[in-house]
Amino acid sequence: MKKLLTGILAFLFFGLITPVNSQNNTASQLDSVFHDRSEVYFTFKIADKDDIHSLTRLISIDNVKGKTVHAYANRKEFSDFLRFNMAYRILPSPGTLLSESEVNTGQQKGFRGDRTIWDFYPTYQQYVDYMVGFASSFPAICKLDTVGTSIQGRLILALKISKNVNLEEAEPQFLYTSSIHGDEITGYIMMLHLIDYLLTNYGIDPSVTQLLNTTEICINPLANPDGTYHGGNNSVYGAVRYNANGVDLNRNFPDPKVGQHPDSNPWQVETIAWMSYADNNHFTMSANFHGGSEVFNYPWDTWSKLTADDDWWQFVGHEWADTVHIYGPAGYFTDENNGITDGYAWYEVNGGRQDYMNYWHNCREVTVELSYTKLLPVNQLLSYWNYNYPSFLNYIKESHYGFSGTVTDTVTDQPVAAKVFIDGHDRDFSEVYSRSTTGFYARPIYEGSYNVTFSAPGYFTKTIKNVSVSKRTTTNLDVQLRPLTYGAQDKSERSVLVYPNPSDGHFRLILPENPINPSCSFQIINALGEVVYNSEIARFSGNSTVEVEVPGLVNGLYYLKFNSGYRIYIDKLIIKK
Ligand SMILES: [Zn+2]
Repeated sequence: MKKLLTGILAFLFFGLITPVNSQNNTASQLDSVFHDRSEVYFTFKIADKDDIHSLTRLISIDNVKGKTVHAYANRKEFSDFLRFNMAYRILPSPGTLLSESEVNTGQQKGFRGDRTIWDFYPTYQQYVDYMVGFASSFPAICKLDTVGTSIQGRLILALKISKNVNLEEAEPQFLYTSSIHGDEITGYIMMLHLIDYLLTNYGIDPSVTQLLNTTEICINPLANPDGTYHGGNNSVYGAVRYNANGVDLNRNFPDPKVGQHPDSNPWQVETIAWMSYADNNHFTMSANFHGGSEVFNYPWDTWSKLTADDDWWQFVGHEWADTVHIYGPAGYFTDENNGITDGYAWYEVNGGRQDYMNYWHNCREVTVELSYTKLLPVNQLLSYWNYNYPSFLNYIKESHYGFSGTVTDTVTDQPVAAKVFIDGHDRDFSEVYSRSTTGFYARPIYEGSYNVTFSAPGYFTKTIKNVSVSKRTTTNLDVQLRPLTYGAQDKSERSVLVYPNPSDGHFRLILPENPINPSCSFQIINALGEVVYNSEIARFSGNSTVEVEVPGLVNGLYYLKFNSGYRIYIDKLIIKK
C-alpha cells in the first residue's frame, strides 16, 4: 500500500493532479461528482501492475491496459479511492454515449411476425413479451424459468431449450447469461438472437437439431435488468453497471480466496437468486457475457494459481477466438493473447460469478467480453451476431466432449449421486458429480489418458484406469457402484454432535466434515420419516459448528441427517420442552 501511495503521487495524468487532502475537499468533490449520478466511470494510471491487488476490492475495475485503468465506483467506493490521492479523469457513462434516437428504435419496431430481425434494443416490456412468447410458441422445446426478481421488481428470466424440455434427461446442462453489468448489453441482444436462432432452426438445421436433442441449454439474456433499464423501461439509454443499490453484482458472489462477502456488501437479491438457480441446476459449462473489451477470460480471476484444466481452457478459448477471427473483421477480438487470457493475468477480480460457479458449482464458466463499445449503435448488432454465433454454438458443443456417462447401483440399477474425481489431476473443486435423478455426469477435459475414481456415500469406491479422451469427441463411461452393507457403513461413521440433547428446539451441531460442498444439506426427520426441517448449511455458514433453531417441533424423538456431499451422517435428537 505504501508503494502504491508514493508511486502515484509522483506522476501527472492528463495534466491533472487532484488536490484532496482535507475531509472538506473530499466531501465537496463527492457532492459534485454524484449530484446527478449513482455511479461514476473514470480512468487513472497505476505505477505498478501489483497496485491492482489493493484497488480491486475498493472500486470496480473494468479494464487494465498497461498501466491505464478504467473503473467504476459508487459514492462510498469513490471516497475510498480519493484517499489514495491519485490523479484521475471522469469519463462519460458508457450508457449515455449514443443519442437516445440511436438506441431507441425498438419502440417503433415491436414484433415483426415469427422471424424477428435482432437489430434493435427492446423496451423492458418487449423483452418480457419476447421471453414469454418464445416459450408459448415452442412449448415442446422451450420453457420459461424465473430466476428471480430484481430490487425494483423487474424479472430475471431464463429460457430452457431442449428436446423434451419438461423432462430431466441424461444430458449436459449448459448456461449462457449476459449483462450482469447493466451497461454491457451486446450480449443481451446476441442471446435473444441465439434463442430465436435455436428455436426456429430446430428440425431444419441438422446441427441445431442435434444440439437441442442432446443438451439442456439455458439462456438468461439479461442478468441485471435494473442496471440496463436504469434510464426507464422504454430505453436502454442511461444503462448503468451496478444494480439499484449501487452494487456491482459481479463482485458480490462468495469468493474462493476472500470469503463469503468479498465486497463487504450483503448478498443482493439478484445474487441470491443466481445462487439458488445454480443450486437447482447442474451446469456442466457456462459463459457470462460482458462488454468493454474483446477477450475470452477464463478462470481463475481471484488468484494466480491455474485451474486443473488450464490446457482445456486454452484449447476452448483459442477455438472461440480463432472462429471469431474467421467471421469477424481484422483486429476484432484480439485483446490480451490474441483474444484469450487467464483472468488473473489480466487483472484480479474478487467476488465474480465466474469463480463462484467454478469453485462452488463444479462448473466451467468463462467470462467473454464481446465488444469494446458497451452500448453498440443498433446498426452494428447484426454484424456482431455474425462474428460470434459460430463460437456460441461451438462452445455449447464442448459440453459434450471429454468423457461422460451414468453412474448406477449394481443391485437396483438406480441412479447414484457420485463424485467423479480424476486422480492426480482434479483440484479446487474441478471434479464433477453425477445427478441423483438420472445418474448422468459430464466431464469436459483436454485430450489425454486419465484414472477416474467414482465414490458415493454407501458404496464401494471404484477407479477406472486409463480412460482415453481425444479432441472434440465423447468417450462414454458408464459405471456401476456396489452398495456397502448397512452395518459396515454405520460403524465407520463419526456422528454429528448435538448439544444440548435433549433440546427445546434450539441447539448447536458440530459437523463431522466442514460443509463446503455445494450440495450438502441438513435435515430433521420425525419418527414417521417425514422431513420437518431442511437447510442448506454450506451457503449460510461454511463453519463446522452451526446454530439451529427450530421452534415448532413437538416433544419426541427425531433423526438428524447431515449430507456432506460426500457422506451421509445420521444421529438422534430428542426434543423436550
Ligand atoms: Zn463487465
